Formats: sequence, C-alpha cells, structure tokens
Amino acid sequence: MSKVAVVTGGTRGIGAAICEALDKAGYKVAATYAGNDDAAKKFTEKTGIPAFKFDVGSFDACNENIKKISDELGPIDILVNNAGITRDGFLHKTTPKHWHEVVQTNLDSVFNMCRCVIEGMRERGFGRIINISSINGQSGQVGQTNYAAAKAGILGFTKALAQESASKGITVNAIAPGYIETEMVRAVPPEVLAKIVEKIPVKRLGKADEIASMVLFLASDKAAFATGATFSINGGQYFA
Ligand code: NDP
Repeated sequence: MSKVAVVTGGTRGIGAAICEALDKAGYKVAATYAGNDDAAKKFTEKTGIPAFKFDVGSFDACNENIKKISDELGPIDILVNNAGITRDGFLHKTTPKHWHEVVQTNLDSVFNMCRCVIEGMRERGFGRIINISSINGQSGQVGQTNYAAAKAGILGFTKALAQESASKGITVNAIAPGYIETEMVRAVPPEVLAKIVEKIPVKRLGKADEIASMVLFLASDKAAFATGATFSINGGQYFA
C-alpha cells in the first residue's frame, strides 16, 4: 500500500516540487498552505494533489487537519515541514510582531506538526520526518535574526527528536537549502541577488527539484540509517 506524505507549504516553491516528486514516486501526498487560494487551486488542478488550508503556527489547526488528512488518505508515514516565511530587517528595526510571526511559522510549526504525528508513527513503528531549515540558520545572515534563530532551532529540534525516535523506526533529518529559485528569493532586490549568486561557487541559484530529490531519498527505506543529520544543499556556499 502507498505510504502517506504530508508536505507543509506544499502548494508553491520548494514544497510544490517536493509534493510532485513524492507523487511521481507513488506516495499518497497531501499539501498544506496558508492563504494563497489561487496558487493552491492551480497546484491541485495541475497535479491532482489535494491541498489543505490551515496555519501551521496554530497547534489546534494542525491537530484538526492532521486528523482530517489521516481520515482522507490514511495514517501519516512521512512529514515534510517545509512551510516558512521571512520578515527581514536589522534587529534594531525588528518589531516583536515580526519576530513572533517568523518563529511561529518556521519553528513552532515544526513542533506542532511533529507532535500531531509522532504518537501514530511510534505506534506503527515507522516514520520519516524531514525538516526544511536554511543555510541562514547555519551561517547567520544580516537582517535575519528572527529567521536565522528559527531555522537554527529546527536543527537542534531535529537532533533531539532523532534520538528519541530512532528505536521506533522513525528517522528525523533536516535539509538546509542555500538560495533556491522560488518566489521567496525572487522577492530579494536584483542587485542584492546578483551579489549573492557571485558568492555561490557553482555561480547559480539552486532549483527546487534539487531539494526535492534529497527529500525523496530521506523518505525512502534506503535512508533508514540516516537520522539526526543536516544535509546542506547550497552550491558550495557554506560548509557547515
Ligand atoms: P514560498 O514562499 O515559495 O512558499 C511558502 C509556502 O509555505 C507556501 O505554500 C505558503 O502558503 C506556505 N506557508 C507560509 N506560511 C504558512 C503558514 N503559516 N501556514 C501554512 N503554510 C504556510 O517558499 P519557498 O519554497 O522559497 O521555501 C520553502 C521552505 O524552504 C521555507 O521553509 C524556507 O524558509 C526554506 N528555504 C528556502 C530557501 C530559498 O532560497 N527559497 C532557502 C533556504 C530555505 P501560501 O501559498 O498560502 O502563502
């Protein structure tokens, strides 16, 4: 029987590429999203993958929707925590609102979603959890104290949960992408982006598919011995 995979923020960018790769590999996939109904509709029309709208920063919404997805597709075997946002600015200009929004969406969400699936995975003796961090959680980045803190937090969470879960057939890993060509990166001013690409040894942005292929491996039975690890995929920009 096909395994069931949930990808948060799966209707656009990296998440959409992950959903499509899992779908092509034969998984039953559910994508989640926050509010961009047009993008979600286009995504489902193109791929046939159902999209569930809820805020991953809310524990109650995660709990409710994990139940809904399990009822529709079956118990969740693979969770990809991919949803994320940025609210950039130097710390001296960062508002508490922007701090909390970023931590809630990027880090609280990982607790929320994992907490809602982990008991079922432990009972069934199988699970794959893949958390999407960032190069900027490893290296830090000017204007991103909130984002870097949240993405670094994911790495500690991943290692701790990997240790708790290893004896139960559950692996927990993180991927730290470098700069990948999605709407999030297209929002960076072109002159800033040009300077970033200059610093990437392979001299280009990454592709969403290049993250999806690592997710596909980590979700597979072949990756059973990989847990608690952070996989950097960044064109050589930063060696963690
Ligand atoms: P996009 O901005 O293209 O897509 C973000 C997705 O997350 C959308 O589907 C969005 O839903 C969803 N989302 C945002 N907030 C919430 C929320 N509160 N609840 C539920 N869903 C939410 O992002 P990318 O594809 O660029 O990035 C994906 C992940 O990869 C993020 O975690 C990002 O931090 C990380 N990353 C990205 C890099 C890059 O270069 N692009 C580099 C390193 C890491 P909706 O469409 O409704 O807004």
